[in-house]
Amino acid sequence: MRQEYLRVALEWVCKSEADEDIEAYMSRHRHDTDIQELKTYFTSVIDWISGVFSDVESEMRGIEWGRLFEIYHNQPYDPVEVSDKLHELYADGAVKKRAGIFEYILGGCKEPRLLEIRIFEESTKKAVYAQQTDEAKKCGKSNCPLCALETGNNSKRIWKFNEMDADHVTAWSKGGATDISNCQMLCKTHNRAKGNK
Ligand SMILES: [Zn+2]
Repeated sequence: MRQEYLRVALEWVCKSEADEDIEAYMSRHRHDTDIQELKTYFTSVIDWISGVFSDVESEMRGIEWGRLFEIYHNQPYDPVEVSDKLHELYADGAVKKRAGIFEYILGGCKEPRLLEIRIFEESTKKAVYAQQTDEAKKCGKSNCPLCALETGNNSKRIWKFNEMDADHVTAWSKGGATDISNCQMLCKTHNRAKGNK
């Protein structure tokens, strides 16, 4: 147990000192007579974590808290709001990577990629593709709804299944579900353009 604590503490303190590695840190401190600096740093990180997050979850193990402390410890957080958000995300079936919830919240809930949001099933994509393509052929328009709105060559283009990607009509971050009712197929260009917004 003590060895394990020491290793984690060393990892954290190294992250705080310009990405020094553990060996370099040990070498620089080889004449120290105690580990007070290390202990103080470790305690600061732990105090900060328990000040921001009132919940204790098993996914908190193994997170790079030293790195997160360096980035976020000067920012104000309301522990009640943090706890509400955390419970909401833990209850959300679309969140695949729960360990990412902590960094997501610390960063102001701006990077859903940290949570690995569930993507559409292959069967859902195929069903939506077939429906959009049938419809498009009937009206003589592109099966990419965004291409269909434009003028020029692509406005009538029927894309193949592997030339399209699935898109959340309403983004997950705005409450959109990952099911067929919220799925549309877009050509790769339009999907990329939408994703970058
Ligand atoms: Zn398109």
